Amino acid sequence: MRAMVLERQAPAASRPLGWQELEDPRPADDEVLVRLGACGVCRTDLHLVEGDLPPHRLPVVPGHQAVGRVEAVGAAVRRFRPGDRVGVAWVHRLCLGCEPCIEGRENLCEHPTFTGWDVDGGYAEKIVVPAAFAHPLPAGLGDDAHVAPLLCAGIIGYRALKRSGLRPGSRIGLWGFGASAHLALQIARAWGAEVFVVTRSEAAQQRARRLGAAWAGGPGERPPRPLAHAISFAPAGSVLPEALAALDRGGTLAIAGIHLDRVPELDYEEHLFYEKSICSVTANTRRDARELLALAARLRLETDIETFPLEQANEALARLAADQLGAQAAVLTIG
Ligand SMILES: [Zn+2]
Ligand SMILES: [Zn+2]
Repeated sequence: MRAMVLERQAPAASRPLGWQELEDPRPADDEVLVRLGACGVCRTDLHLVEGDLPPHRLPVVPGHQAVGRVEAVGAAVRRFRPGDRVGVAWVHRLCLGCEPCIEGRENLCEHPTFTGWDVDGGYAEKIVVPAAFAHPLPAGLGDDAHVAPLLCAGIIGYRALKRSGLRPGSRIGLWGFGASAHLALQIARAWGAEVFVVTRSEAAQQRARRLGAAWAGGPGERPPRPLAHAISFAPAGSVLPEALAALDRGGTLAIAGIHLDRVPELDYEEHLFYEKSICSVTANTRRDARELLALAARLRLETDIETFPLEQANEALARLAADQLGAQAAVLTIG
C-alpha cells in the first residue's frame, strides 16, 4: 500500500512526510484491516510532525481520524464483517486492566497506545485496528471525507463540552475556532446553550455567527455576558487568563488541547477566586466516541472541510500550520 511516512520531525513547511510504498498491514487475531477512504488532518498530527510532541516511534504514518470499510478480520473478531463502515480514532488500544480502565475512566489508561503515534495511522491506503477500538459508523452520516473530522475534532469537542459541565440553556465561551470548536458549537446550540466565540480570524468569526454563535470577537475582547462554561481549543496558554476572567462565579474552563505552550501566571482574585475551576481534557472513552457519532448522525452536524489527495499531506499540514486553510478542517482523500 502507499502511505505518507514521517522519518524525522521537522517544520511542516519543509515537507517532512515522504510518499512510500509499504507492505500491507496484516490484522492480528483481534484486529480488523480497513481500506481507507479519507483521513482528517488534526493539529495533533502537526504537533507530532513538527516535534512539539516527542515521537513514540519513527518512522511512523501519522493520522488518527480515518474512515473506511473493513477489508478483512482477524480470526477472533465477531464484531465486524468485511464491508462494514468504520472509523479509526486517536485511541488505538487501552490496557483495560489498570485502575482508571477498571473504574470506567479508560481515557486515563496508564498504558495506552495511540493511532499515528505508537502505531501507524491513517495517512495510508490501509490501516489495522483492534476490533474493540474501531468505531462502527451509524447510518445517516455523510461521505468519508465529511465524517473524518468527527473522529478526533468531534469527539474531543464533545468531551470538552462535558468537562466544562455544560448544562442545557447555559452560556459557554469557546476560545479558538478550528475543527473541534465548530462541532462543539453546533452541539451546544442543539442543547439550547448560548455560545460566545473568541478567535483571531474574521472569517472564522463569521462562520461562528452563521452557525448560531450569539457573539464572536477577537483576542482581548471579552464576551458581553459572564460565562458559566468555557473551553480553550487554542494551543496558546495566553488565552487562559482571558477565558478565566470571562467566567462567572463558579464557572469552569476546560482546556481541550493535547499540547499547550505554557501556563501563564494567573491572578488569584481575577482568574480563580469565587470557585472558578480549570481542567484539562485527555483523550476520550469509547463511550464518548459512540455518543458523539450518534449525535452527529441525529443532529446532522456540519463539518466544513478542505480536501487534499493523500500524497499532498505535506501541503495540508503546512496550510494548517500557517492558518491558511480554506475551511475549518483539512481532510486527506484516499483511493
Ligand atoms: Zn488501562
Ligand atoms: Zn486529533
